[in-house]
Amino acid sequence: MVGASSSSASTPGGHSSGGHSSGGGSSAGQNSSADGTPTFEASSSPRSITPTTVKDLRDAVTTNGPVLIRGTGTATTWGAPVRDARTTVSLAGMDRVLDYRPADMTVHVQGGIRLDVLQEELAEHGQWLPYDPARSEATIGGLLATGDAGPRRMAYGSLRELVIGATMVFPDGAIAKSGGHVIKNVAGYDLAKLCHGSLGTLGVVVELVLRVHPLPQASRTVMARDVDTATAQRLTWALTKSAVEPTAVEWCEPEQVLAVRFDGTADGAAARAASARSMLTGSLAELDAGEAHSFWESHAARVVAEPGDTVLRAATRPGVDPALVGALSAWADRAGVKALLTCSPATGAYTVRITGADAKAHAEVVKNWRASVEAVGGFVMLRRRRPGVDAMVESWGRAPGSVEVMRRVKANFDPENRFAPGRFAPWF
Ligand SMILES: Cc1cc2nc3c(=O)[nH]c(=O)nc-3n(C[C@H](O)[C@H](O)[C@H](O)COP(=O)(O)OP(=O)(O)OC[C@H]3O[C@@H](n4cnc5c(N)ncnc54)[C@H](O)[C@@H]3O)c2cc1C
Repeated sequence: MVGASSSSASTPGGHSSGGHSSGGGSSAGQNSSADGTPTFEASSSPRSITPTTVKDLRDAVTTNGPVLIRGTGTATTWGAPVRDARTTVSLAGMDRVLDYRPADMTVHVQGGIRLDVLQEELAEHGQWLPYDPARSEATIGGLLATGDAGPRRMAYGSLRELVIGATMVFPDGAIAKSGGHVIKNVAGYDLAKLCHGSLGTLGVVVELVLRVHPLPQASRTVMARDVDTATAQRLTWALTKSAVEPTAVEWCEPEQVLAVRFDGTADGAAARAASARSMLTGSLAELDAGEAHSFWESHAARVVAEPGDTVLRAATRPGVDPALVGALSAWADRAGVKALLTCSPATGAYTVRITGADAKAHAEVVKNWRASVEAVGGFVMLRRRRPGVDAMVESWGRAPGSVEVMRRVKANFDPENRFAPGRFAPWF
């Protein structure tokens, strides 16, 4: 499927990217995250406000100028650098569970609660949020605003699918609520879907009601080594069409490892893992609990990356495209950097971590590989970048067809452009 159109993916020998000039270049006065990556541009040091009530938060966002909303700060570098945010509104003071109803399998939380803290509380009742982004210390509001998800998205969906109620504060001070503890509640606007991926540009997620699940009794991971791109694609389709129901399938390059995860009852997960082994090729191993834990931890670390790395996320049609993987490797070789890739073939999402060499080399790989991905209809955004990369390449590439709708939504909710101005530059 993907292979049919992938032949047009650009390669170092076959395509000139054209490149992009910087729209959000580094400048004096720019602030930095712990790794020195620019986070937002300000004329003077920003001040931080940490409200503890919805009313205080509303006052903070309406009585100050441009605002940067902050959770634990794990994704402040995602998208383009925010301009002129003189006030940071932190959700650190709104980090509580408000109402947990284990028998109803719902939990009502404040937007500033950390995912790992929430998971610990749910685990005491044998429950969890079936959601495994790499950044477990991130806040639930921030995770919704980034639209982030981990490998288990394949089976459970992303966070927006688990939200049954939301309260948001908008730039004009309006407090809007949708849904509640009732799972079959379809009335009103779906605030969670509006906010999903908006990166703090539309409103503050102050409360969420979430649907929780029973904790799986067991989790098994089967690993196939020496799996090339075409084989990874073929095996993923075979697994997804079969009755084995993997909860995650991830393929990593350059290791050429395909990891397949199963959650369920002890017997069920073991039986499904055994069936999967009979379908897989390559050098096979079923990981024990410790090995599986370290594999998925290292997988998450690869996605988050280290200071000085550049991290890209590409969204394409489902599949792992041999032409795109080949193009990345060739562009990385030419620039003298290392590119570590992980792909969720079932959803077509790739995360690439670029290490080594300098900012110019990182920017070259971003520009060239983005051209390859865009040539097959996909998108590439920057999540993290080595300092200096912003001056050479935009954080967002080709605008999607929906950009005019996004602009109108933004203009409607935030006509003065006070929430995270510049985050989606140059689109709006
Ligand atoms: C003002 C505003 C700004 C927003 N900004 C963003 C934003 O910057 N980023 C954002 O992610 N959401 C944004 N959203 C939300 C957006 O409307 C979607 O809810 C969101 O993109 C879905 O995120 P995702 O992580 O599920 O998408 P992705 O994971 O990026 O992709 C969704 C699915 O689409 C498939 N897909 C992607 N590209 C293609 C393709 N070319 N061909 C076929 N299939 C494809 C993928 O396989 C994937 O499974 C914004 C909304 C508003 C109102």
